[in-house]
Amino acid sequence: MGINVLGYQTTLRERIEFTGFGVHSGQPVTMTLNPAEADTGILFNVTCPKSGNSKDIIGNITSVAATDLCTVLGSVSDVHIATVEHLMAALRALNVDNVIVEADSFEVPVMDGSSDAFVEAIDSVGLKSLPKMRCYLRVKKPIRVDMGASWGEFIPYEGTRYEVDIDFDSAAIGHQSFKSDMSAEVFRRELCRARTFGFMKDVERLWAAGFALGSSLENSVVIGDDQKVINPEGLRYRDEFVRHKTLDAIGDLALAGAPFIGCFRSYRGGHKLNSLVLQALLSDKSAFEYVESPYSKPKVRHAELVAVGVPAYAAQI
Ligand SMILES: [Zn+2]
Repeated sequence: MGINVLGYQTTLRERIEFTGFGVHSGQPVTMTLNPAEADTGILFNVTCPKSGNSKDIIGNITSVAATDLCTVLGSVSDVHIATVEHLMAALRALNVDNVIVEADSFEVPVMDGSSDAFVEAIDSVGLKSLPKMRCYLRVKKPIRVDMGASWGEFIPYEGTRYEVDIDFDSAAIGHQSFKSDMSAEVFRRELCRARTFGFMKDVERLWAAGFALGSSLENSVVIGDDQKVINPEGLRYRDEFVRHKTLDAIGDLALAGAPFIGCFRSYRGGHKLNSLVLQALLSDKSAFEYVESPYSKPKVRHAELVAVGVPAYAAQI
């Protein structure tokens, strides 16, 4: 599963700084990722560029303020942080449990539209174990949300798995499917470079609504009216679109505040659906439990260990 074997919480070894601009706001932003103590979680400290007031916003589903085009935490009319999903995906996939994210504007920098820059920076400083066990959220029964022609669900599974399907009425995308157990390695190799995407025909409508003001071919795959990819460099993966949707789902579900043990499946999903499925899971206490081990029934196993002694324990590893 790509988790650290002992299951201790982690943080970054060193502070990391990113500069860039928000893909929706178009505003410049400097963002730093700072090492943090155990049980901090992912905590955003956001400073309003106009008033200079700053606010802490927990990187948790309870902070979600909007899910139109991107995931926004905080208060839309006050201090908030938008487009957290590509950063959250990198932190979750690389098993970074505790970080204080400082930003001097209301949006995470878009970088190249993927999680690549975040992964590279996290890997370059490395992780530090903290003296406290990580908590996992184990899915105990299926939870499903239907939303028009879209659906998403969690089902019990021994591991962490994603099965994401998309089906666009566009010859450039069509039906694509990504199914894999998730680990830091899979994320680095198969997902982290997949960029956000959009359609040329939507751009004017988005601009009029105040979205995508920073979007360009430098940070988005754009599909033209002729249903061809406009970017001169083409695609990074043949099925880059579904890989990006999987990356988004990892980021949105990271707002559970703990890695989950289960399989997340979605069809024609997006930020709103991801958020609704996670809310549905967390609002049904019989559907999940928190465990300190990625393996199921840790308490029973522990009892077995005590009963059968060390040799059996060794054999189980
Ligand atoms: Zn995205």
